[in-house]
Amino acid sequence: MPETMWAIVKTKPEEGAELMQVPVPSPGPGEVLVRVQATSICGTDLHIWEWNHWAEQRIHLPQTMGHELAGRIEALGEGVEHLKPGMFVSAETHITCGHCYQCRTGRPEICQNLRILGVDTNGVFAEYAVVPAENIIINDERIPPDYASVQEPLGNAIDTVLAEDVAGKPVLITGLGPVGLLAVAVAKASGATHIFASEPNAYRRALAEEVGATRVIDPLKEDVVEVVLEGTEGNGVEVLLEMSGNNRALADGLKAVTPGGRASILALYNGDVTLDLNDLVVLRGIRVYGITGRKMFSTWYKAREFLSSGRLDLSKIVTHRFPFREFREAFELMKSGNSGKVVLLWDHGE
Ligand code: NAD
Ligand code: ZN
Repeated sequence: MPETMWAIVKTKPEEGAELMQVPVPSPGPGEVLVRVQATSICGTDLHIWEWNHWAEQRIHLPQTMGHELAGRIEALGEGVEHLKPGMFVSAETHITCGHCYQCRTGRPEICQNLRILGVDTNGVFAEYAVVPAENIIINDERIPPDYASVQEPLGNAIDTVLAEDVAGKPVLITGLGPVGLLAVAVAKASGATHIFASEPNAYRRALAEEVGATRVIDPLKEDVVEVVLEGTEGNGVEVLLEMSGNNRALADGLKAVTPGGRASILALYNGDVTLDLNDLVVLRGIRVYGITGRKMFSTWYKAREFLSSGRLDLSKIVTHRFPFREFREAFELMKSGNSGKVVLLWDHGE
């Protein structure tokens, strides 16, 4: 075991981060040390990279970035008995208290004392990372590390799509960032029929078509509501999956839902949202779900099943892989919007 390792550390309250040598952490009681193989970059990492207002309020410097990972267990902390060194693992990123009302009533993903890996703790963009043993997910050995690292955001997409069933139903997905693209794949694999997908970025619209969207829409050039109504005999879609964080996309998306349909909102918005709730939701009997994180841990079993069965194909969604030393290029690419999921590979000098 080396004493030091490479890690991508946010050291200054400004855009960027540094690749630096830091001590290899040691797992405390109830924790495990993972030898990291692949990490994917999340929109949250980009916010921390860019140091936006949210990051400024939330992140304590210096801190190792990242939370989406796959790797092998290197060492176990005291009291960890159900895991073994060498196991191929990923991690749930919501670290819960276990004793609040939500944790005790089967909803730990919305724990009142929630902490997030790589947001409230040191993260996983490093050669080794410490993770609470409770958060460890044992991966299917058939899933390659780059895809295994993407299971965390895939879980966001799964819960958004499958808040209710989609089989035999037309859906609209607004926003085709990495999670919106994952939602297209999940909706298709789960039997959605027409998959309308709106996104201003042409690169992402093209990816969505490859992944299974049946009609892509540029919301800057076409009227989303008109396109959906035309394509659904005037009825609208049964399901809206809001993945953009754009107020207009949400309002138009709700308009495109047929009365009695449902909307699942995963996106986070920059400030308050304005909506005609009476006409868009209440009087049309729309069921609205707020989605956060993943169900702990049933969603992980679904993600694993989708991938190991080959039912869900990530080959078009994981568009770029970079050796960790090229992390700056990886972040710049994410910023450009011309990517699906971007993965960093940790080669350990091999
Ligand atoms: P992203 O920012 O990469 O993707 C958003 C996409 O929406 C972009 O491609 C953007 O071009 C597109 N967009 C902008 N305006 C639009 C419009 N008017 N119509 C259609 N599309 C439009 O984000 P992501 O990483 O794919 O995540 C999706 C959303 O989910 C984000 O808001 C993110 O913050 C949120 N999120 C929430 C959770 C949670 O637990 N609730 C977890 C992960 C992500
Ligand atoms: Zn709790």
